[in-house]
Amino acid sequence: MFEIKHTLCPSCSVGCGINVILDNEKIVGTFPYKRHPVNEGKNCANGRNSLEKFDCKINEAVSSNSVVSVDKAFEEISKEIAKDNVTVVLSGNNSLEDAQAIKSFCEENDFEMIFYANDLGNFENVASYEDIENAPSVFVIGDILYENPLLGRRIVHAKENGAKVFSNLKSDKSVTANISDQVHSGSVQEFLDNCDDVLEELSVIVFNTVDACDELDKLKCCESKLLPVYSKINTKGVLSIADAQSKGEILEMLNGTDVLLVFDDDIVDEFDYDFKSISKIITFSAFENNTTKLSSIVVPIMSWLENDGSYVNAMGETQKFAPVMQSDALSIIEVIKKIKG
Ligand code: SF4
Repeated sequence: MFEIKHTLCPSCSVGCGINVILDNEKIVGTFPYKRHPVNEGKNCANGRNSLEKFDCKINEAVSSNSVVSVDKAFEEISKEIAKDNVTVVLSGNNSLEDAQAIKSFCEENDFEMIFYANDLGNFENVASYEDIENAPSVFVIGDILYENPLLGRRIVHAKENGAKVFSNLKSDKSVTANISDQVHSGSVQEFLDNCDDVLEELSVIVFNTVDACDELDKLKCCESKLLPVYSKINTKGVLSIADAQSKGEILEMLNGTDVLLVFDDDIVDEFDYDFKSISKIITFSAFENNTTKLSSIVVPIMSWLENDGSYVNAMGETQKFAPVMQSDALSIIEVIKKIKG
């Protein structure tokens, strides 16, 4: 029997809705979620392809390349986390509820906690997507039209409403260049200096990348509205629970790590680091990825389609989601209870 169920796209922090088509609990496709206020039925290719992850679903616990029972995996995990130099990876993929549980777990056990937020920092007051559409000018740092297309759609609407679009792009092949009145390619500092005479209070600066932390300080000094766009769905939400570190700080923390616990993240894919130098990587993940491939112990967990919780999108709106399918796997909260014993 076919069913259509509402959920959220997990592929970036824009927070689009997506409908999943199920045939007897098996995912067979996606369908426009027309009433969702963020994307009104549209999804980009990344959003539609997010369900392809289910081709690489993890169904069994693995330790040292052998399938083991979940109980056996937890026995081994208990021994490993009793050792020194344990570091835990908190992720923008974690829901608010999971992130809070992971943070408490780290505090109770005195574990170091790594959290990466694309080096974009935390901004209390951010522009809304409607602010972009109504802005007299939009300043875009990073290829938002390519990497966050449903937010890019708001910039296109702003241009249709008469806004000027200025962009700072690394490549002249960037999609955002196609709708820009002016394209720059220097540092963020130079871009803002060059645009100083056209930046105004109602302008919006949308950015998904910076080259250096002092560029964030420069952005914070602007009178215009700001909208950082993170690569993971709930980075904005997790920033309200934990401080993020810079890439450099995280590499140093990894140097001092003997046991790395990863909760629903692919840190190996994200960081250029010799992860084989870490004695044990223990990963809790619904899907195979480069981190699970390097891990000594992998425990399957519920995916976002099988769990409930809350995510906060880039403009700071909390969106709740409910399970669209059943699972025998544990949630992150259940994993932490089991580790505690
Ligand atoms: S813009 Fe982001 S949230 Fe929206 S459909 Fe595309 S990947 Fe998903």
